[in-house]
Amino acid sequence: MRASTGIRCATVLVVSAITLSSSIRTPAQSATWLDTYRDAASRLIGESMATTFAWDRLALLGDTFGHRLSGSDSLEKAIAWAAVEMRKDGLENVRTEPVKVPHWVRGRESLDIVEPHRSALAMLGLGNSVGTPPDGIEADVMVVRSLADFDAAGDRVKGKIVLFNVPFTTYGDTVTYRTSGPSRAAARGAVAMLVRAVGPPGLRTPHTGVLTYTEGEPRIPAASIATEDADRLQRMQNRGTKVRLRLKMEAKMLPDADSANVVAEIRGSERPDEVVVVGGHFDSWDVGTGSTDDGGGCVVTWEALRLMKQLNLRPRRTVRVVLFTNEENGLAGGRAYLARYRSQLANHVLMLESDSGVFRPTGFGFTGSMTARAMMQQIATLLKPIGADHIGPSGGGADIGPAVEAGSIPSMSLEVDGNYFLIHHTEADTVDKIDPADMAKAAAAVAIVAYVVADMPERLR
Ligand SMILES: [Zn+2]
Repeated sequence: MRASTGIRCATVLVVSAITLSSSIRTPAQSATWLDTYRDAASRLIGESMATTFAWDRLALLGDTFGHRLSGSDSLEKAIAWAAVEMRKDGLENVRTEPVKVPHWVRGRESLDIVEPHRSALAMLGLGNSVGTPPDGIEADVMVVRSLADFDAAGDRVKGKIVLFNVPFTTYGDTVTYRTSGPSRAAARGAVAMLVRAVGPPGLRTPHTGVLTYTEGEPRIPAASIATEDADRLQRMQNRGTKVRLRLKMEAKMLPDADSANVVAEIRGSERPDEVVVVGGHFDSWDVGTGSTDDGGGCVVTWEALRLMKQLNLRPRRTVRVVLFTNEENGLAGGRAYLARYRSQLANHVLMLESDSGVFRPTGFGFTGSMTARAMMQQIATLLKPIGADHIGPSGGGADIGPAVEAGSIPSMSLEVDGNYFLIHHTEADTVDKIDPADMAKAAAAVAIVAYVVADMPERLR
């Protein structure tokens, strides 16, 4: 902490001692700069918890527009709606900032066992996958349980449909089979790739998600299948049964489409050029309604500004919400934000993303200096009443990532206790999995952190 902080805090102390009720403190407890924020924090919690506004807004978003895949009409209609609603909320400088996004379309798709008996499997093509010929691809399946297993299979992969049947451990560890599996299989001559759903076992819910083709390798179609079906194919192979599959996918990539990041602000009263950014990604996969991934994250960060506005809380610095486009299959929104604001990154005080669902909030992950971490730990004590006072070892998010990295900006992520990886990227990603009170707490937590960091006398460093 810098030397001047103690002097500023002393000034604040006098003010807070007058404005705060003395009944809640004994003289032995010395007041701190944080005391000036206790009243605002409890009002933000009270305002958020008093209604189901955030949940209702998320439900309306999903019910009205459905999914929001990049390039879809539904995403663009939802973007236009969000900008209108932000103006109705009284937010300032509401704007849409144009971004070109990839335009992948799924089309019709199916996966069937054709031998030893005909049976349909629960599948979802992977995002950015190529399609199959109109009649599909028919081939024997080869099930592998790990990369070592795959390597051991050697040339036997050639001409097969490879299934990576790897049980979910963590997203970071397991997702690599989805992203790099197609090109690994293609390099060995496989004709298509399947991956066990990257998530804990659900109720026969395959998980879509993006794949990444390696330059120079053939592009083969790839799809996710439900854990139940992956285990069934494994059992059949283990018994020595020859299993023949037919995969049909109409998937294709169209020319890039027009989209936009949605931006709104509460301008700072003293240092408007210094900015605290909060946000999530507004695009989703084309299954379910993207309520957990990441409509909820967008609504609670947006809600942070709406709550401040409702309570007439205008911080010294600007608070900006950004609903990023195209996180799922391109990250074009996050990159466009960096390109547009590159010259202003030094004025970004903090960037906060919510993209782990809006279940019961437990706190925030934080990445920044030790001084800033100590500050965040103090601020987090204001979140004790809603149980969200934990500050984890690292924070950030895909959308804020490009700017955070380029500007070495302190970054945070909302942390929650919930079944995110069971739900996201599936048909089951709908608003009914989310509890309105949890969502109200999440919105209050984001609002308090954003407000205090934007308003506190010393800049977070
Ligand atoms: Zn997401």
